[in-house]
Amino acid sequence: MLQSFNARTGEVFGADVPATTEAELEAAIQNSERAYSDWQTSDGDARARLLNALAQAIEADREKLVELADVETGLGHPRLNGELDRTAFQLRRFATIAQSGGAFTFTDDPAVAGGPPIGHPAMMRVRVPLGPVAMFSASNFPFAFSVLGGDTAAALAAGCTVVVKAHSGHLHTSARVFDVASQAIKDAGFDPGLLQMVQGAGNRIGVALIQHPLIAAGAFTGSTRGGAALRDAARARLRPIPFYGELGSTNPVIATAAALKKGGDTLVQTLASSITLGCGQFCTNPGLLVLQRSDEATAFVEALVLALKALKPHAMLTKAMRKALDEGTANQIRSGAKPLIYTPVEDACPNPYLAEVDAKTFIERHELQDEVFGPASLIVWTDSVDETLSVLHTVGGTLTVTFWGAEEESADVHRMVRGATAIAGRVLFSGVPTGVAVTAAQQHGGPWPSSTEPMTTSVGDAAMDRFLRPVSLQDMPDWLRKRQGRPC
Ligand code: NAP
Repeated sequence: MLQSFNARTGEVFGADVPATTEAELEAAIQNSERAYSDWQTSDGDARARLLNALAQAIEADREKLVELADVETGLGHPRLNGELDRTAFQLRRFATIAQSGGAFTFTDDPAVAGGPPIGHPAMMRVRVPLGPVAMFSASNFPFAFSVLGGDTAAALAAGCTVVVKAHSGHLHTSARVFDVASQAIKDAGFDPGLLQMVQGAGNRIGVALIQHPLIAAGAFTGSTRGGAALRDAARARLRPIPFYGELGSTNPVIATAAALKKGGDTLVQTLASSITLGCGQFCTNPGLLVLQRSDEATAFVEALVLALKALKPHAMLTKAMRKALDEGTANQIRSGAKPLIYTPVEDACPNPYLAEVDAKTFIERHELQDEVFGPASLIVWTDSVDETLSVLHTVGGTLTVTFWGAEEESADVHRMVRGATAIAGRVLFSGVPTGVAVTAAQQHGGPWPSSTEPMTTSVGDAAMDRFLRPVSLQDMPDWLRKRQGRPC
């Protein structure tokens, strides 16, 4: 049996939840495979009808869903209502993409007479869905990266079916979203196998799911360690499968002295809010501030210390995460960081943490380069643009880099932009990295350790492409050519 907990009090919440048995896991995957046999050839209208029905279903149950999620995650009603809106928006956006034929795009390459290399047969490059997808929910997005989150929406729009591994941090919320979704699927006349859900203690269920021969791909949002373990399990199969892991990230912020001066207190307050937003439990949390020494940077940091001290984050998602935050901050200090705000408390609600270190120590000490998940940030002091670039190079991979002060072109600005784009999925030139727009040009996923597949994105329209595999049809019969990319 599994237990859910009240994030704020740590007390057991609600009834025990039965762990999925091996037989139930097998049945869920078989159901998914059965539903896939028809769903893979569904047209855009059917996919849109399903996705729109799912969006409507969670909106109709909003009150109860938000109430449950609030107890299990402690994220608060305003944030959770906003997240539910975003989840419905994602479902509807993929409905629109599916309806407009987004999954059926093709490249038509008519025959060219003559010998190679110029002459060639008629070719049409189309895309086919991968099959049943194993989807691992995130702890910190109980709606938007969970049962009906972006991965599920994108996979269904692509013509895949989905088996969700519920996150242990919000079991009752997941169960209710799943029930609401299952009812909507049934009411709309679709096969319930389109969406299945499993849950279990420890790693056994996740590994069994990703290694099942009928599972064709994995989509994961969580820690770098968990993602690496599941990626390895996906690779260790007799037939390895694609594994799209969105992992942890430190999200460096770099800034020129002029930008810090110009931004003044507004920038200080914006950054302090971003560090503590949602108790710092965002993969895009600004965990590193890489600042070149200057009077302006010193003044900025002094003001940031005051701003952070005035903020009191809410409870963390789980006891394990709360413990990991204390271990992560203590580890930074042991590894040479000097605390600027370090007031550990025995409480579900941590205090903000800020520390500083010189670039040389940061580059030498691996322990300082890990993500600390929570309201924590590390300032890395550099003495030159070269040293700032070395720090970025050391980070190696991140979801975002934020660069304040790139307005005027110069050789140094060019180098910093190059350094930022070399390691990040998204580079921001204003604002803060928390908050990820669901849109056409979004790229959410950078080089390792922030993602297992940095050529893909888990947020935005291109998320669907992860679940489609290109196939070239050569000298295809006329009826197949006329299908124009729609699977038969
Ligand atoms: P987590 O511990 O990795 O858990 C994620 C899921 O993977 C859970 O279902 C978990 O099972 C399962 N799992 C973990 N380790 C496993 C293993 N070795 N074998 C099989 N299954 C395993 O992640 P978390 O701590 O809940 O989430 C926080 C992390 O997520 C942070 O690092 C944050 O940056 C990252 N995150 C990334 C993004 C992104 O888009 N890049 C977005 C949000 C969060 P249980 O449920 O049983 O624990």
